[in-house]
Amino acid sequence: MKTRVIAVNPKKPQIKKIDQCVSILRKGGLVAFPTETVYGLGADGLNPKAIKKIFQAKNRPSDNPLIFHISNKKDVKKYTKDIPATAEKLIEKFWPGPLTLILKKSSIIPKIATGGLNTIAIRMPSHKIALSLINSLGNPIVAPSANLFGKPSPTLAKHVLSDLDGKIDAVIDGRNSVIGIESTILDLTTKTPTILRPGKISYEELKNLLKKVKYHPSLLGKKSKLLKVKSPGMKYKHYSPNAKIILVEGSTKNTQKKIHELIKKFQQQKKLIGIINNKNIKKTPFVKFKFIGTTKNLIASNLYKSFRELDDQKVDVIIMREIDTSNLGFAIMNRLRKAASEIVSA
Ligand code: AMP
Ligand code: MG
Repeated sequence: MKTRVIAVNPKKPQIKKIDQCVSILRKGGLVAFPTETVYGLGADGLNPKAIKKIFQAKNRPSDNPLIFHISNKKDVKKYTKDIPATAEKLIEKFWPGPLTLILKKSSIIPKIATGGLNTIAIRMPSHKIALSLINSLGNPIVAPSANLFGKPSPTLAKHVLSDLDGKIDAVIDGRNSVIGIESTILDLTTKTPTILRPGKISYEELKNLLKKVKYHPSLLGKKSKLLKVKSPGMKYKHYSPNAKIILVEGSTKNTQKKIHELIKKFQQQKKLIGIINNKNIKKTPFVKFKFIGTTKNLIASNLYKSFRELDDQKVDVIIMREIDTSNLGFAIMNRLRKAASEIVSA
C-alpha cells in the first residue's frame, strides 16, 4: 500500500483535504493525524473491520483498548452511559483538551475497540485538524498513538512515516504536536477518580477541581509490578527508542558527576553516547548532546522527538537526568521510567 502524505494547515484546515481523508475513513481505511498531544492513527470508531486494521498496522496486542475521539461535548452521551456528575465538571473545564475519561460504554461501541471491556476511554481533542476530521466523518474516531507498538509516540508526520509507511492509507502533515506526550487518563468508574496515565492535565489541577483524586498504585511505588493493572496498556513496556536509556536520579550536583562517570565508562567500551540535556551538563567531545529546554512544557514537547533523533544518529545509549515530579513533571518521569533500561541513583 502506498501511504499518502496530505499537508493540512493546522490553524485553518482546508475542507477539501479533510474531505479526502474522510472518504478514506468512510471506506474503512486508516489515516494518521495530528492532535495537540501526539499524532494518532485514526479509524472510524463504529466500524469494527477498520478498527481491527489499527491493531494489525501497529502490532498492538488486541487486549490494549483504544481511545475514542469526539468533536462535540454533547456526543459523550451517545457513546457512554451513567455519566457521573464529576464527568460533567471535568468536561466543562478541560474539554476540548488532553484529558481522557474512562466511563461506562453504550451498546453501539464495538467491543473490539475496548479490548472486550464494558468501559470506554473518550476525549475531545482541541486540535483543529482532529476536530475537523471527526466532525466531517460524523462518527467518533478511534486513535491510538500512530507509532509501532512499543516505540515512542510520534509528534511529527515524519515520525509516523518512519514507523508506518506502506501500512496505512494516509498521514496528515499538520506540523508538530505541541504538548508532546499522551493525554491524562482518568478512570471515573471507581469510587475515587483514579489517574491511570499521567499527562498534561496534572494531579494538582484535577485535585483542585474534584477534591478527591488518586494515582493508580502502579504509578507510585517500586512494588508496581506486583499490582493488578487496571488499564491494559499499563502492563506493556512503552515509549522506547532502540538505544538503551539510562535515567540518572539525584541532586543536580550529584547527577552531573554521575553522568560524567557514565560517559567515561561507555567511551571506554567504545559506545556512541547521546545525552538529553535538560539543565546544564558540561559538554564532552564525541558525545551527542541534545538540549531539549529547561521548562517542563518544553521537555515534554521535545522528549520523544529527541529519542527518535538520537536513534537516527545511531547512539548506543541515551543518558538523561530526572526532573522534579510536580505538575507535568510526574507525567514526564512516568514516560522516562517506562522507557529506561536502567535507573541509576547518583
Ligand atoms: P494510546 O492511545 O496508544 O496512547 O493508548 C490508549 C491507552 O488508553 C492505553 O493505555 C489503554 O490501556 C487505555 N485505555 C483505553 N480504553 C480503556 C478502558 N476502557 N479502560 C482503561 N484504560 C483504557
Ligand atoms: Mg500509544
